[in-house]
Amino acid sequence: MMKFKSLNGQAPAVSFKETVINGLAPDHGLYFPEKLPLLSQNFLLGLKDKSDAEIALETIKPFVSGDIPESELSYIVQDTLSFAFPLVRVSQDIFSLELFHGPTLAFKDVGARFMARCLGFFNSGKTDSRNVVLVATSGDTGGAVASGFLGVEGVEVVILYPKGKVSDVQERQLTTLGQNIRALRVDGTFDDCQAMVKKAFTDDQLSDIRLTSANSINIARWLPQMWYFFFAFRDNPLPAQPLIISCPSGNFGNIASGVLAKKTGLPVERFVASVNANDTVPRYLNDGNYLPEKTIPTISNAMDVSDPSNFVRILEMYRNNRAAFLKDFSSYSFSDDQTREAMAHLQKNFGYTADPHGAVAYLGLKTEMDRFDEAVGTFLETAHPCKFGETVGAVSGVEPNLPPQVQALMHLQKTYTDITSYQELTHYLKAI
Ligand SMILES: *Cc1c(COP(=O)(O)O)cnc(C)c1O
Repeated sequence: MMKFKSLNGQAPAVSFKETVINGLAPDHGLYFPEKLPLLSQNFLLGLKDKSDAEIALETIKPFVSGDIPESELSYIVQDTLSFAFPLVRVSQDIFSLELFHGPTLAFKDVGARFMARCLGFFNSGKTDSRNVVLVATSGDTGGAVASGFLGVEGVEVVILYPKGKVSDVQERQLTTLGQNIRALRVDGTFDDCQAMVKKAFTDDQLSDIRLTSANSINIARWLPQMWYFFFAFRDNPLPAQPLIISCPSGNFGNIASGVLAKKTGLPVERFVASVNANDTVPRYLNDGNYLPEKTIPTISNAMDVSDPSNFVRILEMYRNNRAAFLKDFSSYSFSDDQTREAMAHLQKNFGYTADPHGAVAYLGLKTEMDRFDEAVGTFLETAHPCKFGETVGAVSGVEPNLPPQVQALMHLQKTYTDITSYQELTHYLKAI
């Protein structure tokens, strides 16, 4: 059975179930598989003929089996992947993998849905225990977690978001559902929200409450994201050319799961972590110093993160081997002006409407492909353009259509509680 160790090295290794419930290890480290599974050549060669759910089950099984029986896991996976992940051709050798066709139109739907269903399975039939899922959001996590966990038995969800720093649609997605979903509007930045959540997890005052994290640090949210890279590889129509995949990166969970997919055998040639003005990682790759600065607000706000929590998972996978790391991995930063130009360019030249996050990923991909002539490239388009309708409309002159998932929200009442300090958070949690 797979065990997960803490990357701080001061806590015992635990099972999948325990990592899902703990979120963070008791020594404040992120969990990471003790040993990575290796997929068989047969499986990899046969990818073309496999469905999304077949790929998902086969790749997640080694991490989970032992805690969830295969028949149940198979059901969870199918229920999680109930929408499409189309690979859309943008130009001759550039493709967009659209991850925004789920219920909240963001790529985080898959991780949130998978985690919610795992936690629901672990809680089923128990009446004595209630989990409080506590999560900070820079934009899309909140909506995805709210939708994924809505109505899940035995789970209360508390979402912290930075006041005035998420879009109207994003705010609606996390404040309009009701039932077991509660939103706290914080006077501060995303990093402030995340700091409060981290503190709550290690606060003795709150030890009576069974707190569970649903940020991408949670293994059950993080692992399923590797599926995207298998889908991108399977659907690539130019398999003879080396594949470069660019991720719009904030907390670096998505790209870390791509690296994980590669480490289990998926032959992706290179990864590009494309970031906005929050450029801690590209600076680190240049000079070896990891120095987070104050978070800068941008038009790709789901990536406004200056100290990406999942980056340690990537470093772990390349432990002590900077040369191997640089061989697989690049990271580039782009300004809001460059992002707007890319959106306008994609619209004008290819008729492709990108959201600001996808546009940053496109820029990173282009930069990398200029270095590798033979390559074929895919960028991950992580949010539906309508979620950033104002920017998209102003820049590319196209009003993105509102899918039914969003139209339904526009008439609902927003409900949230304002908080300004950690103290207020603890009072709120104790009163649940
Ligand atoms: C969360 C998010 C990202 C960043 O993903 P990470 O896994 O945190 O790097 C990028 N784009 C969108 C739209 C997001 O919601």
